Amino acid sequence: MYTDEHAADRGRHDALLVRGRRPAPKGNRGKPLYAVVNYAKQRRAMRRLLCHVCGKSAHRNELGVLWLLDDVAANCEPGWPEREVSVHPPVCLGCAGKAVEECPELHKMGFTALRVSDPEEYGYYGTLYTRDLSAPGSPFPAFVRDRETLAFDDPLLPWLHCAQSAMALNGVTVIKLDDLISAP
Ligand SMILES: [Zn+2]
Repeated sequence: MYTDEHAADRGRHDALLVRGRRPAPKGNRGKPLYAVVNYAKQRRAMRRLLCHVCGKSAHRNELGVLWLLDDVAANCEPGWPEREVSVHPPVCLGCAGKAVEECPELHKMGFTALRVSDPEEYGYYGTLYTRDLSAPGSPFPAFVRDRETLAFDDPLLPWLHCAQSAMALNGVTVIKLDDLISAP
């Protein structure tokens, strides 16, 4: 917990949230920082299905909400990305096109564009702590590992310092980038 904790520090299932980043310094605003995540903005984008680049509504059509993942099926388990749990929020059409052009990570990893008909909030991604087992009775938590994703019903959730929301991508249709850019 935080010593000056307030209600906004708690998320779903009373999970402890990492606080948002302060606004970017003047002169550095308005430029998308693809590799840097503003945690409060990320969680809001997931909750409300907003584009994580511009903050407007993510694009949606009859197949569902538009998502870009920084991976390709060849590197993944069969069936991917159905039910993939992702910390990437959805995107709008304009930002999807721009991200594919400008984002160095997407170029390096390859990417997959998809529609998701039934995205479902799954849990949180963050740093997992536990009781300090080397000091019996110690109330202080000890670091276990970062980059941990836990479902809302995971019994370890109270020990996760939650940076980002994780979404389960259910009802996935993989689409072609060309269709994506030229779609109405
Ligand atoms: Zn956008």
